[in-house]
Amino acid sequence: MPELPEVEITRRGLAPHVEGRRVDALIVYDRRLRWPVPLSLPRTIAGRTIERVDRRSKYLLFRLGDDTLLVHLGMTGSLRAFARPPARQAHDHIDLRLDSGMTLRYRDPRRFGAMLWLPPPSEAHPLLARLGPEPFSPECDGDHLWTALRNRTTPIKLAIMNNEIIAGVGNIYANESLFRAGIRPTTPALRVSRVRQRALVEAIRATLSDALAKGGSTLRDFVDSAGLPGYFQLDYFVYGREGLPCRVCGSAIKSLRLGGRATNFCPACQR
Ligand SMILES: [Zn+2]
Repeated sequence: MPELPEVEITRRGLAPHVEGRRVDALIVYDRRLRWPVPLSLPRTIAGRTIERVDRRSKYLLFRLGDDTLLVHLGMTGSLRAFARPPARQAHDHIDLRLDSGMTLRYRDPRRFGAMLWLPPPSEAHPLLARLGPEPFSPECDGDHLWTALRNRTTPIKLAIMNNEIIAGVGNIYANESLFRAGIRPTTPALRVSRVRQRALVEAIRATLSDALAKGGSTLRDFVDSAGLPGYFQLDYFVYGREGLPCRVCGSAIKSLRLGGRATNFCPACQR
């Protein structure tokens, strides 16, 4: 599943090819995504210029004047740029043709992604309105977490995966960040001290930064490459390592499920 780093790398990969370009045509082959692609979208977007590509949480936001095209990659989506797109294949659902001759192709085998048109103010759209701060934003510090979590008995891992508290921290990065901060995932959020909340924010940023650094090396693959975007294979500390020795202390990594998601931790390093 594309997480924040994959979406951010997609944004960086696409931005130079789309910013300042006019949309010649949007061709929707199959509109049955998580929410149907609006029937009016091709007519609405044709002739408009993409000024900028932003990211909020795991949403790509193409800015066209005051309007926004929101793209979510869901569980299996990808958005690629082609100078000469290959013949369309199964799961290639949407082509966005630009005046430069480039085509952005949206592919999504499981179709949990989305492509929606947001009139201004886009921040008020239900998908965006309640998002918490971005992990790298100045307002997302230990004090923010402390304030947001002080009355919550929910396990800390579920709290940091809650987009209303902090935006875009998915399962892999929640697992890894909690290891780096030495916090057990099941700890009730309100039991994590203010000092450890600060360490946790730093750990989240460090984990995401490492993934972004890895992903940066895949940027050139965004053009004329039909492959899926890389899922950045970090040397995970705990994620997917049940039963294997902790890289720090050698204890066997444990596994349980929280909120239905695989949760891994070191019973010695994480308290
Ligand atoms: Zn350990």
